Amino acid sequence: MVDYPTPNMHVGRLGRPRLVVLHSTETPTNTARAVAKNFQDPAARASAHWVVGTDGVFTCVGESDTAWAAPGANHDGIQIEQAGYAYRTDWTSADGAQVVAQTARLVAQICTRWGIPVRHLTDAELANGHPGIVTHAQISRVYRQSDHTDPGPTYPMATLLAQASGAPATSTSSATTTREDTPMYLIRTTTPWNTYAYALVCLSGLGGARAIEQSEADYYYPVLGVRPVGWATWNGLVERAWAAHAAAVKAIGGAVDVSISDEVDKIIRTIKEIGAPAPTQEKTA
Ligand SMILES: [Zn+2]
Repeated sequence: MVDYPTPNMHVGRLGRPRLVVLHSTETPTNTARAVAKNFQDPAARASAHWVVGTDGVFTCVGESDTAWAAPGANHDGIQIEQAGYAYRTDWTSADGAQVVAQTARLVAQICTRWGIPVRHLTDAELANGHPGIVTHAQISRVYRQSDHTDPGPTYPMATLLAQASGAPATSTSSATTTREDTPMYLIRTTTPWNTYAYALVCLSGLGGARAIEQSEADYYYPVLGVRPVGWATWNGLVERAWAAHAAAVKAIGGAVDVSISDEVDKIIRTIKEIGAPAPTQEKTA
């Protein structure tokens, strides 16, 4: 499963990942494998979940475990090192754009897997516990436990977000931007206590589901559309999504560490807390 296992990690996590943290390795764009191997050295005292370069995409730490990459956001971040230099790499050059495009595909998969929205958080949102995508520089600013500023001020965040969310790529590069289909749906129901409840559900691939707030639903709506369903169907889909997740994890030889009924209960509790009052009249799309 993991290409280059490292001792520089903690087994498990304190909580569910909520952040994708973007880094640069401060090495040339074709050195992802070398960087991944270097993380195996105990003296490095650092690691990442993924290392992306023009020479390939490598894993060092499983996403359910804690990598050591961005103090302050190690426990709830999935760390992606991108081969390149924060202040020297032209991320729009052929090589740089290839790294960004690969990272975007990876980000799309990670976000689907963990129910993380494909959106770049502001520092305030990061500090307030929102889920999304951030840079190591932001982690340094918000948590003040490191001084790293990667992946640098010229990093093309807008291109990454467009590619990761499946919007037309703004990059002029010829690098491949083909994205695997993200089988994710936005569903909405009216609860028995008369609020709207939204969930992102993924019934194939790695499966999984997450209850989301109105504001996040508004964010996904233009991309995914929304499927209004009855209360029983909504619950059935959430349960099926978690069953799909458990089956997928089992199929790849991983331990199934989630109880489907616990996850469903958690989602019900969440929507009771965050439900927006259902308007009396349906909005037309
Ligand atoms: Zn970093």
